[in-house]
Amino acid sequence: MKKSTQKKQEKVGKINTDVRVILEKVDNGNRLKTKDWEIAKEHFKARCVYCGSTDNLVKDHAIPMNAQHLGRDRPGNVVPACRKCNYAKKDRNYIDFCSEKPENRNPAKYGRKAEQAITEFMREQGYKGLSRNKATLEEIKTIIDKARDVAGKERDKAATEIKKRIAK
Ligand SMILES: [Zn+2]
Repeated sequence: MKKSTQKKQEKVGKINTDVRVILEKVDNGNRLKTKDWEIAKEHFKARCVYCGSTDNLVKDHAIPMNAQHLGRDRPGNVVPACRKCNYAKKDRNYIDFCSEKPENRNPAKYGRKAEQAITEFMREQGYKGLSRNKATLEEIKTIIDKARDVAGKERDKAATEIKKRIAK
């Protein structure tokens, strides 16, 4: 991997961590509970929703908790996925991941069926995004961008101040 690409990815990773923290705060006290995770695993028969594997199941946010997709840590949006699929999906929406060309898939099983199963599960669990209104969603993104910007600047300032105090 090129150094510049790696740096960019690290930056994106940090940015998404900030967004995740904000989104978690929005649903504070209202987030996915152990019981909800058990329901999700039971619903998908303790298998990866994307490939059917039973190995190392982790919580996958079908709609990711990032600035682009604004997913929530709420029942219906958290599905079991094996580490391989969770890693392959990265920051993508489940619909995009499931509609990938078969030759790009890793592992090879997920597809439209997984997409439908997740959409159905979301409906069944009553999952709702932050808003259905496009203008509101744009406003939310602007609020998040602003917070990120301020937080980033404060972090840089803090690092500079700490560096000054490091014993020489
Ligand atoms: Zn999988």
